[in-house]
Amino acid sequence: MTQLNKLISSLQSIEIITDPPQVAKLSQDYHTFSPVLVPKLEGKVGDIVVRPANQQEVIAVAAACAKHKIPLTVRGAGTGNYGQCVPLHGGVILDMTKMHNIHWVKPGVARVEPGVKLVAIDKKARDIGWEIRMAPSTYRTATIGGFIAGGSGGIGSIQYGLLGDRGNLLGLQVVTLEDEPRVIELRGDDVQKVNHAWGINGIITEIEIPLGPAYPWAEVIVTFDDFMAAAKFGQALGNADGMMKKLIAVFASPISQYFHPLQQYIPEGTHPVLLMLAEPNLESLPGLVKQYGGKITYEKPANDKGANLGEFTWNHTTLHARTVDTSITYLQSMFPADTSLELVEHMYHHFGDEVMMHLEFIRVNGRVTPGALQLVRYSTEERLNEIIRYHEAKGVFIANPHTYIIEDGGRKIIDPEQLKFKEMVDPYGLMNPGKSKVLQCQISH
Ligand SMILES: Cc1cc2nc3c(=O)[nH]c(=O)nc-3n(C[C@H](O)[C@H](O)[C@H](O)COP(=O)(O)OP(=O)(O)OC[C@H]3O[C@@H](n4cnc5c(N)ncnc54)[C@H](O)[C@@H]3O)c2cc1C
Repeated sequence: MTQLNKLISSLQSIEIITDPPQVAKLSQDYHTFSPVLVPKLEGKVGDIVVRPANQQEVIAVAAACAKHKIPLTVRGAGTGNYGQCVPLHGGVILDMTKMHNIHWVKPGVARVEPGVKLVAIDKKARDIGWEIRMAPSTYRTATIGGFIAGGSGGIGSIQYGLLGDRGNLLGLQVVTLEDEPRVIELRGDDVQKVNHAWGINGIITEIEIPLGPAYPWAEVIVTFDDFMAAAKFGQALGNADGMMKKLIAVFASPISQYFHPLQQYIPEGTHPVLLMLAEPNLESLPGLVKQYGGKITYEKPANDKGANLGEFTWNHTTLHARTVDTSITYLQSMFPADTSLELVEHMYHHFGDEVMMHLEFIRVNGRVTPGALQLVRYSTEERLNEIIRYHEAKGVFIANPHTYIIEDGGRKIIDPEQLKFKEMVDPYGLMNPGKSKVLQCQISH
């Protein structure tokens, strides 16, 4: 009997999927946006999928994996972009989507299970006048556990900063992968030991997040004849502290050609800015738009039916572009905080149509800063790396989305505190093995 068969027979009461096409499907994510990652992750699949319904079942799976030295890769909705939940060494895929309880929601804070979708938490919070502070554009499908372990920020980050910023995560409970698994509660700065750790530092079973006051969010499109006028309008709106906003996304022409449902609102050759703005602030918008020479072409009051603008922003922009042209890929960048946007202007002109500018304004250390998910017309990996190196040499931070190694992406070095915690909670190196340069695993097959 193999170690895997022994593991399966010890977990009789828990839902297990062994059907190979289903297991293969649940081993995938959206790394397909990267032509560099696709060949590297081809054929990487788990052996089985286990779907725990509660913490006790998670503990049983963790103990069985530790006992039989079987690798374990945790999975939420599988919308990650870097092969984060693609298993490099087979083993168990731990699908957390059955753990979707919202334990409680109080003014300013919610405690939930990891498999609950962000949209569901938001809906519940709105019932009492609060809302989630930020969400990826995959808000309707992604889980909170996957967002904490794999995401970085998104719609709402213009107000609240990034997920890793102090205060955006209040508490976490993790199950360890030891012979006798423990349940550990992390609070305060200790949450950073697991935040954005790609599921290598324990299985998250409970999460406590802060909430923000709920606003009625209007959605607006403003178009500009000049790209830099659009970008400077975005920066000025970001800096306007009296205006509550959730989203400021700026797109260089011709990106909007990929936004089919919005084309009637974006004249060809213009550069659109997509906004989510608190409805009471709508009245203050036309003055600023006029100052930068823009035109409001679409306005949707909160709760009205119509296009959901958030689903054209952040990495949904890349999704729409790739639906039309699969040769397009993307970058993830952070420009230095500089209200003149000189470096944005330089890159816009320097790369022209090869690197199409897509800005997402966010708050970084208290300053409104242009993040970017530029669309790249891919030719070769060498050219892509050249583009990345050019940005870095000029002072633009690149969180490389074309790698499945944590340190080679956004983090650059693995946090020593995360590493120490890893040694304690995963002594056999079984959790999502192969995703960090410094870690080895003791796997049996
Ligand atoms: C079109 C598109 C748009 C996107 N936009 C954004 C965006 O705006 N902002 C952003 O940050 N990301 C974005 N992403 C990436 C992704 O959607 C988000 O990060 C999302 O929150 C991931 O959630 P998930 O449930 O799909 O996680 P998964 O992809 O299933 O998992 C992500 C990582 O978390 C780990 N993990 C999952 N659950 C647990 C758990 N319970 N315990 C421990 N580890 C766990 C996994 O092992 C994996 O490493 C986008 C992706 C796509 C395809």
